Amino acid sequence: AGKSDGKGQYRFFDPSLYKQIKSRTRLKQHLIEAIERDQLQLYYQPRVDTQTGQLCSMEALVRWIHPEQGVIPPLDFIPMAESNGLIVPIGELVIAQACAQLAQWRAQDLPLAPISVNVSPKQFSHGGIHRHLEAQLTRYQLPASLIEVEITESAMLGEHESILAQLAALRTLGVKLHVDDFGTGYSSLSQLQKLKMDVLKVDKAFTSQLGLSTEGRVFFQAIVSMAHALGMTVVAEGVETAGQLSILRDLGCNEVQGYYIARPMPAQEMAGMLQQHQALRA
Ligand code: C2E
Ligand code: MG
Ligand code: MG
Ligand code: MG
Repeated sequence: AGKSDGKGQYRFFDPSLYKQIKSRTRLKQHLIEAIERDQLQLYYQPRVDTQTGQLCSMEALVRWIHPEQGVIPPLDFIPMAESNGLIVPIGELVIAQACAQLAQWRAQDLPLAPISVNVSPKQFSHGGIHRHLEAQLTRYQLPASLIEVEITESAMLGEHESILAQLAALRTLGVKLHVDDFGTGYSSLSQLQKLKMDVLKVDKAFTSQLGLSTEGRVFFQAIVSMAHALGMTVVAEGVETAGQLSILRDLGCNEVQGYYIARPMPAQEMAGMLQQHQALRA
C-alpha cells in the first residue's frame, strides 16, 4: 500500500497492528512447537445421568501444558488456531489422543465410557474429519460408539452441503452427534432434528438462570419437552449447584455436566473415576 490518504498523511504503517501481527505470528510458532512437543493434552469432564448418577460419557477439553506458563485454557489458543488453520492438525491430534486414551484404559481393564470431542466448523470446511476418525478407530480397534462429536450450533448455520455430507458420514460411522452451546445461536429445534442431531447440550448461560428466575426454568422446560418430542437427549452444561441439579432432574433433563459434578481433570484422575464407576456397577 503506502498510499497517501490525501491529507498529507501516510497510513501504510500502523505500529499497533504490526505488533498484533508480530505477536500473532509468534504465538503461531509457539503453538506449532507445542504440537510437536506433545504439550497439548486432553482433560476430561464427566457427564452423568440425572436419575442414576451413572457416568454417561466424558468430554475431552484440550489444554496447552506450557513449561513456563502452566496450564493454558483452550479459549486462549483455539480461536487463534481456527483463524490460522492450525485447528486442523490440532483437531486431528485431539481425536487421535482420545482414541489412544480409550485403548490404554481398555488395556488396563478399566470400564470405558464414550469420549466426546469438540469439532470446529473449520475442521469441517477442511473436510475429511470422518476419514481421520475412522482411521483412528480402526487403528485402535474401537467401536464408533465410543466417540461422540460436539459441534456448536453456529457451525451448522447455513447448513453448507459439505458440512451436511460430513455429518451424514459421521453418523454412518455410528458416531453420535451433539449440538454444543445450544441457545446461543439461531437454529431451531426442527432444523437440528432434520440434521439428525442426537443430543442437545444446553449452554451454561441457561443453566445459570435456573433457580434465579421463573423464566429460566420455563425456558429450560420448553427446550426439554420439545427436544424429547423430537427424540433428542438433553444435557445441561455448567451445573454448579445442588439446586440446579435438582431442578434439572425435576424437569426431566437427561444428563448433566458441570463443576458441581466434577471439574475437567487430567487422564490420570479420570482413570480413577472410571475405576469407581466399575466399583459402582460391581
Ligand atoms: P465447550 O465445549 O462448551 O466446553 C465447556 C466449557 O465449560 C469448558 O471450558 C469447561 O471447562 C467449562 N465448564 C464445565 N463445567 C462448568 C461449570 O460448571 N461452570 C463453568 N463456568 N464452566 C464450566 P474449557 O475447557 O475452557 O473450554 C472452552 C471451550 O473451548 C469449549 O467449550 C470448546 O468450545 C473449546 N474447546 C475445548 N477443547 C477443544 C478442542 O479439542 N477442539 C475444539 N475445536 N474446541 C475445543
Ligand atoms: Mg463441548
Ligand atoms: Mg458447550
Ligand atoms: Mg463453548
